[in-house]
Amino acid sequence: MLNFDELKAEDLDIYNAIKKEKERQNSCIEMIASENFTSLAVMEAMGSFLTNKYAEGYPNNRYYCGCVNVDTVEDLARQRLCKLFGAEHANVQPHSGSQANEAVYIACLEKGDNVLSMSLNSGGHISHMSKASAQSRIYNSFYYDVDPETYLIDYDNILKIAMECKPKLIITGASAYPRAIDFKKFREIADKVGALLMVDMAHIAGLVAAGLHQSPVPYADFVTFTTHKTMRGPRGGAILCKKEWAQKIDSAVFPRMQGGPLEHIIAGKAVCFKEALTEEFKEYQKQVIKNAKILADSLIENGINLVTGGTDNHLVLLDLRKDGITGAELADCLDNIGITANKNAVPFDTTNKSVTSGLRLGTPAITTRGFLQEDVRQISKIISEVIHFKCKIPEEKFTEYKQIVNNLCLKYPLYS
Ligand SMILES: *Cc1c(COP(=O)(O)O)cnc(C)c1O
Repeated sequence: MLNFDELKAEDLDIYNAIKKEKERQNSCIEMIASENFTSLAVMEAMGSFLTNKYAEGYPNNRYYCGCVNVDTVEDLARQRLCKLFGAEHANVQPHSGSQANEAVYIACLEKGDNVLSMSLNSGGHISHMSKASAQSRIYNSFYYDVDPETYLIDYDNILKIAMECKPKLIITGASAYPRAIDFKKFREIADKVGALLMVDMAHIAGLVAAGLHQSPVPYADFVTFTTHKTMRGPRGGAILCKKEWAQKIDSAVFPRMQGGPLEHIIAGKAVCFKEALTEEFKEYQKQVIKNAKILADSLIENGINLVTGGTDNHLVLLDLRKDGITGAELADCLDNIGITANKNAVPFDTTNKSVTSGLRLGTPAITTRGFLQEDVRQISKIISEVIHFKCKIPEEKFTEYKQIVNNLCLKYPLYS
């Protein structure tokens, strides 16, 4: 399957770009913390006949005829998702994580309501009412930072801010926070100020599904996430909520925010949720965490500063402020060697967003390929040396690094 014969015959330009992208994925070490590699089964579901079908509405309550099969697909996706996380209600239609978040805002907020969320610099996401988002113009946003000394979430400080700004909604969940988040404490804060609680577990959903991170489902009114990232499914979003919010969430997604759902993607999500219910998926997530810990430990051994001094999850955040290079420089330099990562702001970063003083590294994608601790050590050594060289890598070293990257990629073939 996935031989692309038809595409090759009809549109060589797009065929070639896809082929080259497959080669890039096969030949680079993917360490962007938000990326992963889906199974071919997920891809087959996504590239299927379901893309032809309009299905506005929800299973057994559609605006179009002919929805019998997409109803089966979407029902299975919802049931599997509720089972996976022990949730009361699931909506699998949001096209992305940001749209899942927007649907929650539409469901529970009115224009001008106060919302409290984690600042971008502390690891929050743009879609959490950041100044760059359209939502920040509709709602009245307040932010909390991590502790300026430890860079950990400071629950007492959040309570203090919440008592002052009396938010209707508190948002937690992050894109660049390497530590566990205590959702029970967030519930207590929300209860003390009479706020609703939304947890965006986009980055850690796979860890939560495997029971390796506290689940937000018992504590939050709304849980949103992306089905790519650690979940290892198709790009997309999903929402879990308590029964009492089911109707409001569903109507927020359709018709208030989106039109027709992407049933081919929902089929990919259903396959992903089935995979996530297996023992292999749990084992995979355990290895993701083991690999991240080794990555953190060996970077520290090699003299690199990490935000919070380590990790509890699938990612580490390098703090380059003492090293005399920027996040942008390091990301570009590693890219040339074949290690793909992204520049990232560190807490209280004073540099421009397009420069930054940090680099974010994650282990979900390399772990899918089969990388083990000793492989991660080799990568960590390269990254540390590149930092010590301030990206001015001697010729022979550059050749050596490329060789190591090449060997690792050949050792763990990805897509044939
Ligand atoms: C990745 C991410 C999202 C957004 O997902 P998109 O599908 O890119 O819109 C939302 N929230 C958090 C915390 C994320 O890390």
